[in-house]
Amino acid sequence: MAKNMDQIVDVAIVGAGIVGLGHALAAIDRGMRVLVIDRGAEQTGSSIRNFGHCCITVQSGAAQVHAERTRELWLRLAEETGLWLREGAFVVARADDELAALREFAARRPAQVEEIDADEVTARTGVGAGIATGGVRLLDDVQVNPRDALAKITAYLRSRGVEFQFQTAVRTIRTGRLHTTRGRVGADTIVVAVNHDLDQLFPDLAAQYEVRRCGLDMLRVSIPGLRAPLEGPVLTGWSMLRYSGFAGSPSLAGVRDRLWSVHPTLAALDLNQMYTQLPDGTVIVGDTHYRGDAIAPFQQEAAFDELLRLAAEFFGQAPDGIRVVERWQGVYASAPAEFLVESPVEGVHVVGVTTGIGMTTGLGLADRVMAEIYEPVGA
Ligand SMILES: Cc1cc2nc3c(=O)[nH]c(=O)nc-3n(C[C@H](O)[C@H](O)[C@H](O)COP(=O)(O)OP(=O)(O)OC[C@H]3O[C@@H](n4cnc5c(N)ncnc54)[C@H](O)[C@@H]3O)c2cc1C
Repeated sequence: MAKNMDQIVDVAIVGAGIVGLGHALAAIDRGMRVLVIDRGAEQTGSSIRNFGHCCITVQSGAAQVHAERTRELWLRLAEETGLWLREGAFVVARADDELAALREFAARRPAQVEEIDADEVTARTGVGAGIATGGVRLLDDVQVNPRDALAKITAYLRSRGVEFQFQTAVRTIRTGRLHTTRGRVGADTIVVAVNHDLDQLFPDLAAQYEVRRCGLDMLRVSIPGLRAPLEGPVLTGWSMLRYSGFAGSPSLAGVRDRLWSVHPTLAALDLNQMYTQLPDGTVIVGDTHYRGDAIAPFQQEAAFDELLRLAAEFFGQAPDGIRVVERWQGVYASAPAEFLVESPVEGVHVVGVTTGIGMTTGLGLADRVMAEIYEPVGA
């Protein structure tokens, strides 16, 4: 390791989002001296701007493996940190093709997916009367409150000896050392978990993986006339077009063709119509998606109009029955591959979730990366 450092640790982690925290957890569990560095004064990235929906049940391939491990880690963290968590999520069908696709999905995953009838869907998701034709409950899904979760995990890691250095930007990274705006840090292992800002630290790697930014419009609303509390995250036919676990359902093509042809404006917004309710009763409403190397900070009111119109329709409310509490823009790394795990130089590990499923897979991915560093197979 390089000499003349201001600070020396075993593991230095750049980025205090969920992916960085996952690595810190895995490192402190192994008895390492761990430092997490973030340029923000506190976490303000994707990890607190999301729905808090860990959509474990609807993944496939590597994402499913990471999601299942992530689920175990969320349950453990809930126990150890007291963070708010509940299990299960719902997909509401509002058309025959959606119900058919859900039944095909449930038939493939009988242990994880439970079909429920329209009355039960209506009673458990807050959807307006007569709107649902049926649905499923995703048994392995988990919901957390992102703002509460990040704060609790950070406090917990601190209590176990992990050091956090906020308001500190990492400028350059080499084997065994990194230069920050507050001095030099020496570390045998360096993990870079900076989400879409990877293009600033490792531009060639970001270009190789075709990493771009995805911007999203989000709202938190209060709905005084909500018919029933949402017993978990609530997904719709639009969500079924996004998650890889649904892909094997023959009826899905019909869902896509119908939604895209009947609702071209919503298709152009790349909509995922979904809702999560927080413990205070407010509901997170989302979301739209737009991609580019830069994301304009100027959010289109037309997109919010559509999200609010859809929410009113879904929950059977008059247009003025929904009050906006907050609006925000989310940004995350987006690339053709779901994950980016690379070691551009010895001892430096770049780790990113390059689709919008970091809350679902990030902890498990981090756990796997640290296991491969410290307990390599065949070593
Ligand atoms: C609106 C929205 C909704 C979403 N919904 C869901 C969902 O329901 N379920 C789900 O699974 N996923 C969801 N996601 C995706 C998920 O939130 C992300 O995949 C995940 O949070 C990424 O975590 P991260 O730790 O990589 O990034 P972040 O949380 O963004 O953390 C990266 C950190 O790196 C720091 N950083 C960057 N550069 C430097 C530097 N040079 N020096 C020091 N620090 C630096 C930043 O300050 C930041 O704190 C959503 C995302 C958004 C935006």
